[in-house]
Amino acid sequence: MIENKVAIITGGTRGIGLEIVRLFKENGAKVILFGSREETVNKALEYLKNDNLEVDGYYPNLNDFDSVKKTVEEIIAKYGRIDILVNNAGISANKKIEETSVSDFTSIMNLNVNAIFHMIKAVVPFMKENGGGVILNTSSMVSIYGQPSGVGYPTSKFAVNGMTKSLARELAPFKIRVNAVAPGITNTDMVASLPKEMIEPLIKTIPLGRIGEPRDIANAFLFLASDMASYVTGEILSVDGAARV
Ligand code: NAD
Repeated sequence: MIENKVAIITGGTRGIGLEIVRLFKENGAKVILFGSREETVNKALEYLKNDNLEVDGYYPNLNDFDSVKKTVEEIIAKYGRIDILVNNAGISANKKIEETSVSDFTSIMNLNVNAIFHMIKAVVPFMKENGGGVILNTSSMVSIYGQPSGVGYPTSKFAVNGMTKSLARELAPFKIRVNAVAPGITNTDMVASLPKEMIEPLIKTIPLGRIGEPRDIANAFLFLASDMASYVTGEILSVDGAARV
């Protein structure tokens, strides 16, 4: 569905991002994953290589626009184009407001919002030059319902939706589609790090009766990245088993 497209996936070393990397590669894309550290990037590349999936990896500092820009330029020098950008790297929070420090709040906003802006700003000129592209952001169901503690996380994901809808309108004349996927509770390290007492009751309320798997979410990204979604832009696609938590 995305044969020979050049795709960058941030936060591609584990969880949802790693599954997007795998699925895009299985569908014929040239995939470049970004991670936060050399060690985790190399580990992911090795793991994929064991399944005969050859992927490239980089670890720019997403919080630093110059670092992002330099890496994007290196990728353009090597591949000549970027067709698909998936902004998936993200961190969550669950502390009450009294326990949330100013720097906790700032680091969530830095990675979940500012880093996406950095990536899009660095990639858009090349997409315009190539006559189009696809930008996909990882939002969350908390971007629709909020959550009872950890205010920085839903705040950041509401911002992701705002960026998605606005840039979809700004970039549509350049044939760049911008969409987001809003996963529900998904079986990754992010959820494993939350207390069981918090997660298990939530899973019981999901109408489809189970937690989402990374492949459930990656499938939505594949659809939105492909020409099957050629008339879809500015959309926040919920993939959450109809969870309302
Ligand atoms: P994860 O913790 O398993 O993976 C997070 C990824 O982000 C990793 O690849 C990591 O390298 C990268 N990352 C973290 N900090 C970084 C930094 N400072 N710089 C660069 N990269 C960094 O999480 P996941 O569950 O796979 O989450 C992926 C995305 O999905 C996130 O945006 C998250 O908010 C969103 N999401 C997850 C769930 C869920 O239930 N798991 C639900 C809704 C949305």
